[in-house]
Amino acid sequence: MTVTLSQLLLIPLLGNLCGILACWLYYQFRAHPPRIMAHRNRIYRCQVCEHVYLDARDVPVARCPRCGVLNEAVRT
Ligand SMILES: [Zn+2]
Repeated sequence: MTVTLSQLLLIPLLGNLCGILACWLYYQFRAHPPRIMAHRNRIYRCQVCEHVYLDARDVPVARCPRCGVLNEAVRT
């Protein structure tokens, strides 16, 4: 197997470029992490069955999915 001079130079060059690309991607995601969409769900705790649940609707009371009792929001 014979290796030409251009192949001898190309392989380390590609390796270094891949390393630079990996570093760039790492620091790019570190500086700007992907945002998790924060939903403004209200938290409810059922007064009957103690079930804690969320509701995305902007309503002061929501029905418990377990027992069906209406409960006020604990935290908005
Ligand atoms: Zn309940």
